[in-house]
Amino acid sequence: MFKNYLFTAAERFMRYVQVDTQSDPQSAASPTTEKQKDLSRLLAEELKQMGISDAAMDEYGYVYATIPATTKKKVPVLCFCAHVDTAPDASGTGVKPLFHRNYQGADIVLPDDQNQVLRLKDYPYLERLKGHDIITASGKTLLGSDDKAGVAEIIDAAHFLMTHPEIPHGTIRILFTPDEEVGKGTAKVDMEKLGADFGYTLDGGEVGSLEDETFSADAVQLVIHGVITHPGYAKGKMVNALKIAADVLAALPRAELSPETTDGKQGFIHPVRVDGLAEKATIDFIIRDFVTAELKVKEDLLRGLVEQVMEKYPQAHFDFNVTEQYRNMKEVLDQHPEVVDHAKEAIARAGLKVKMESIRGGTDGSRLSFMGLPCPNLFAGEQAIHSRLEFISVQDMNKAVETIVHLACIWEERSKNQ
Ligand SMILES: [Zn+2]
Repeated sequence: MFKNYLFTAAERFMRYVQVDTQSDPQSAASPTTEKQKDLSRLLAEELKQMGISDAAMDEYGYVYATIPATTKKKVPVLCFCAHVDTAPDASGTGVKPLFHRNYQGADIVLPDDQNQVLRLKDYPYLERLKGHDIITASGKTLLGSDDKAGVAEIIDAAHFLMTHPEIPHGTIRILFTPDEEVGKGTAKVDMEKLGADFGYTLDGGEVGSLEDETFSADAVQLVIHGVITHPGYAKGKMVNALKIAADVLAALPRAELSPETTDGKQGFIHPVRVDGLAEKATIDFIIRDFVTAELKVKEDLLRGLVEQVMEKYPQAHFDFNVTEQYRNMKEVLDQHPEVVDHAKEAIARAGLKVKMESIRGGTDGSRLSFMGLPCPNLFAGEQAIHSRLEFISVQDMNKAVETIVHLACIWEERSKNQ
């Protein structure tokens, strides 16, 4: 169906990455940086020019748009979603995208910082990109393929569908969000206004990959209350909360259940912050596992360790507070197997091998899934993200566009006649 069609995602991508959209974890505003709206505004404008009349950015920098249905069948409303912001890890100011035609495996030295060299041996995925056209930044900034690749691919798929009304598909909603990189991508999303049944984020790496699983996540705050007295007259009375905190940290498992000693499907207990005075100390933990019920097991283990330590300090006491952070999206997706099945079929129709993956973290998709929009993550082609060596293949981007279009068709094909 796409034989003679030239996708233009890369051309769009080269423009979008030049707009600085870095988000700011320190800011309490929505969006956290005003400059994210520069891109959102541009995207809404481009969608409008394609004839998508309702495309608009809201006050928080979210873009909503609708590709109208071209079928009489009743098809679930799909949402394709990507984020406009880039990570605070590396500068996003003055990004100069460079196009490297027909990559053959040679080192790519980035011209603005000769120490930044993209080498095949460091990034084995490059082996698969021989013969592809690659885009990198120039050495001083990140590229921003995370997630402007997803943005460009969705826009390009929208353009394709709007110029090919003969292709039957249901109503498609487009959503671009700010602040994903600082964990607030879904903070101001209006689910009612979005009005979609199922969603796909385009924010993954390797071509063909499909992520339907994330961690489940809780936070634990441990507050240790010591006993304070004048230190000159403290004998037999003072109980120092800082020393108890140190004992708790020393008692934590090291060889297992830690981020630095686990991978794959293993979870962990991870202290992320210590704060305190002799009188009172606080330790913040994050607890992670793919199985939600296992969070409780890990929390009980942690509480047991704390109780053991506290036995040595009968005058002291503690509070142990658990808060839910997010849940494994698979719990929701398993109730709607067609969402992942159709994505697998779309990837296969694009001529790719499906690679199912789990994310050792959370995504906007996991939050959206529990907000009522089952939403796995599709590949967008982004590589070496959050770094100055970030790169992406033009051909991978085109495969993502193709996958989006196939998905729209598959949902229509597999829906019943009205
Ligand atoms: Zn991302």
